[in-house]
Amino acid sequence: MNLAAEEQALKIAIIGGGISGLAAAYTIQETSRAKNLKAGVFLIEADNRLGGKIRTEQVDGYTIEGGPDCFLRQKPWAAQLAGKIGLQSDLIGTNDEQRKTYVVNKGSLVPLPDGVMLIIPTRIMPFALSPLISIPGKIRMGLDLLIPSFKGERDECIGDFVRRRLGKEALEKIAEPLLSGIHVSDPEKQSLLATFPRFRALEQNHGSLIQGMLKERKLAASKKPVSGNGPTSLFLSLRHGLSQMVNKLESSLNDIHLLRGQRVTRLERHPQGGFRISLSGQAPLDVDAVILAIPAYEASNLIEGFAPQIAAQLDHIRYVSTATVTMAFQKSDIRHPFSGFGFVIPSKENRDISACTWTSIKFNHRAPEDTILLRCFIGGPGKEEMVSLTDDELIVVVRRELKALMGLDAEPILTRIYRWEKANPQYDVEHLTLVKHIFDLCQEVPGLYLTGSAYEGVGIPDCIRQGQQTAEKLLASLPEMKTEINL
Ligand SMILES: Cc1cc2nc3c(=O)[nH]c(=O)nc-3n(C[C@H](O)[C@H](O)[C@H](O)COP(=O)(O)OP(=O)(O)OC[C@H]3O[C@@H](n4cnc5c(N)ncnc54)[C@H](O)[C@@H]3O)c2cc1C
Repeated sequence: MNLAAEEQALKIAIIGGGISGLAAAYTIQETSRAKNLKAGVFLIEADNRLGGKIRTEQVDGYTIEGGPDCFLRQKPWAAQLAGKIGLQSDLIGTNDEQRKTYVVNKGSLVPLPDGVMLIIPTRIMPFALSPLISIPGKIRMGLDLLIPSFKGERDECIGDFVRRRLGKEALEKIAEPLLSGIHVSDPEKQSLLATFPRFRALEQNHGSLIQGMLKERKLAASKKPVSGNGPTSLFLSLRHGLSQMVNKLESSLNDIHLLRGQRVTRLERHPQGGFRISLSGQAPLDVDAVILAIPAYEASNLIEGFAPQIAAQLDHIRYVSTATVTMAFQKSDIRHPFSGFGFVIPSKENRDISACTWTSIKFNHRAPEDTILLRCFIGGPGKEEMVSLTDDELIVVVRRELKALMGLDAEPILTRIYRWEKANPQYDVEHLTLVKHIFDLCQEVPGLYLTGSAYEGVGIPDCIRQGQQTAEKLLASLPEMKTEINL
């Protein structure tokens, strides 16, 4: 588009260059090209690099993920986007022949029994023989087959749901470290409907989680596998790490003005419609529509002046802080070789780390052959103060925990620490109602859109879907917007 044409065109700003903002920008670009729409689009990112929580570093032959390390294949939006931007052949699956997760039980690593799908046992013998759950605990889990299903649509916390269906022990030893671990949440606050709606559906459609999971598994097995469509494991990543997707998107966004290292410090609404964006490093920008793909508390700060009601609702979305500590070891220094994807730790065990992924076993292409790469998780609900320990203190904590839990006392040959302050949005009970209310209120401010991990899914596929849908919604409102601002 030449400059004169651009002057006339509608201007759109996407604030936040994480995966949600990138997906929105890419969708606007591709749709504008396909429909020959003229729009000047700006993607504004405070940091000097794009990607937000997605942060891969290549160091001495290691591929180190500071934030997310994979995404769920069942939610197709991430793999689809990777395919569209030419990364299909770089999608990698997990090494499923090594697939085993351990749970720390009374200080020891105990394998999660084969056949346990998320929290639901689907194979009798491995479950019956597992030392993880006591005999009364197993019998209580089996009662799921008899307990009547919950009628109604009311939300409840994960804690109440799992206690109701599978009992207290299943909550403490399986659900809390696995389900709440994924969302870095407190199970007594975490919304079932916003984070695991499938469980409510299983309960209501089949009368029992176990019955429902068995039937769904049978149905899935009877379907012909789709061949030639990339790896089929539950989780996927990219050969060079998840930043490969960010870098490819960045280089594909030829029609978008990328403003990196520019923090939006203020957002004002023009009385006649449209917005003025104040930036940390350059003159203000006037735009007709804005997508805020930033954390809820940042969005609240920016819109408080002209949309105080929405800002107040956004402030209800809480965040917690975490850190990841990655360490590499020489295989020859490890006395007890291990296999599996890592372990999770119930909070009852009272440890200083919450989980550990055995990264170079879970995925290929992550570490030189003669080494092992591990990643430990620190912080989260009730343990956020751990994130502010110094690097040296964090290393001491992690090494102490690895020694106690895995007998690993070798000297690490590489260590990387990433702190994620206020990075994990908390989907508390009734989160979906809150989000609906926020989105309804936004309809009263034409041209204002909110998207990203604060709202309808924290995982990368959901962030991509939300970014795409928000962009489509904005583009669909263009005729309206053009009339309003007399273009
Ligand atoms: C440690 C960790 C591990 C995770 N693991 C997984 C995983 O394995 N799989 C998975 O699917 N998900 C995982 N997640 C969740 C997932 O990574 C995030 O939910 C997702 O990446 C968020 O994307 P986003 O674009 O919505 O937000 P963000 O990535 O937070 O992007 C927001 C961007 O906005 C910018 N910004 C903020 N304020 C301003 C401003 N005023 N002006 C300009 N720019 C601004 C920020 O700098 C940032 O780049 C993990 C998250 C963390 C923290």
